[in-house]
Amino acid sequence: MAARRILAGGIAQESHSFNPILTGRDSFTITEGAEAVRRARGTNSTLGGIIAAAEAAGAEVTVPVMFRAQSGGPVEDAVFAEVKAAMLDAARKGNFDAIALPLHGGMLTPALHDPEGVLIQELRAIVGPAVPITAAFDLHAHVTPATLNACDVLAGYLTNPHADQGATGRRAGDAAFAMLDGRLDPVLAWAHLPMLTLGNDRTDEAPLQGLHARARAAVEAGKVYDTSIFNAQQFLDVPGLGQVVMAYGNGRSEEAEVLVAALAAELWAAREALIGTYPGLEECLARAVAGTPRPLILGDQGDRVAAGAPGDSTVTLHALLNLGTEIPAAVPITDAEGVARCRAAGVGAAVTVTVGGRYSTAAPPVTLTGEVVAAGEGASLVYAGPAEKGQRAHVGPYAVLRAGKLTVVLTAFPYAYIDPEYYRAMGVEPAKQRVVITRSGYHFTLNYAAIGECITVDTPGMSSYRVAELPFTVARPFYPLDDLDVTPQVRLRRR
Ligand SMILES: [Zn+2]
Repeated sequence: MAARRILAGGIAQESHSFNPILTGRDSFTITEGAEAVRRARGTNSTLGGIIAAAEAAGAEVTVPVMFRAQSGGPVEDAVFAEVKAAMLDAARKGNFDAIALPLHGGMLTPALHDPEGVLIQELRAIVGPAVPITAAFDLHAHVTPATLNACDVLAGYLTNPHADQGATGRRAGDAAFAMLDGRLDPVLAWAHLPMLTLGNDRTDEAPLQGLHARARAAVEAGKVYDTSIFNAQQFLDVPGLGQVVMAYGNGRSEEAEVLVAALAAELWAAREALIGTYPGLEECLARAVAGTPRPLILGDQGDRVAAGAPGDSTVTLHALLNLGTEIPAAVPITDAEGVARCRAAGVGAAVTVTVGGRYSTAAPPVTLTGEVVAAGEGASLVYAGPAEKGQRAHVGPYAVLRAGKLTVVLTAFPYAYIDPEYYRAMGVEPAKQRVVITRSGYHFTLNYAAIGECITVDTPGMSSYRVAELPFTVARPFYPLDDLDVTPQVRLRRR
């Protein structure tokens, strides 16, 4: 028998409805063909997991394109159209045995609320109902009926902070082969809840830890084939925003229905407990001034690039400048003009630049005088992990400004700094600081754990969990902004 052939690839980005800066093609790391497979093989990524599943089954993987970007504003329609055209063209010509897609599930374009659903539906229209289509999504995906109807098995990350990207891709890939082998006849039971989780939503802590344990036990006992609990990205102003709980039975639905009904009821009952609180920035900085055994690595809750915010908030920079004393600290600010001015002045030059606060309005821009200690373009890095260990990324134009003990890292594009290698790529050692700011709320806590004490701080801004301050329109009604009385309904989908 000739080796089976699997189509994989696509686009992965998490969007933020209220970030006005569209995500363009130059924000993506793009790989194609054999190079895409070679680069993803062995990495803790969804594509890496799909490749591992295929190679374990002796199958070939074809990746027409893989576009990956960090979170940000909606993706330009032309970028999504380019990816979709490449995937559909491959599906038309390829005569593939199955399709397994490493996507995010929480992307937007100006024209589309659910581009991933559109991609999966159009692939389904080409290959017909018999060819298995599976997908791996982020836990923060906005999962729609369109996706669930067109996709045979959807696997979501089971961890937040996310550590199981590769394992999720493996689940999606293995499901496609199980279907091809006749070992799996997926029957989906799912429920939607119009609510948001807002901060107390790590999967290694209550209440989500208990739900995941219950779901995992059902899989291990053979009652269901696979489960996912999606806690949607909170800044998507889309119809049907909320939670999706799902389980696949193998050939039968009863146990999956019972499990989903129980998990959905438990999730709805836990809605108040899923809203977290965070320590204040000032109290954390006061601790840093007094001295802590290890650096404080602070996640700027209000301007999380990891959640799609612009990364140019000056709230933390103002607070550090207003301390009245200097401590070694590193702060990242997205500011293309500031980068250009520093690069024009050159390394070693003294400059005065006004940075940040162009899109984030929680604090005004800051005028700094300092020395340009590093500058460049295209610095590459490999995530030290554990989250996304081995993942490659690059930093576009940048300049590092030193003002006394303060290091301000200016970049033309936003980054979440979820891995310390971002700083190191620009010549800044985070372990030598007393305070390091990241633009992440969860994921940095895994990758900086070896360096310092990781704390997400309550700061205002576009990605603050004070969602009442955001201009939601079409996503409502949802808890906690609306007073709702919900009895979860379990729905079924058979192939
Ligand atoms: Zn996520």
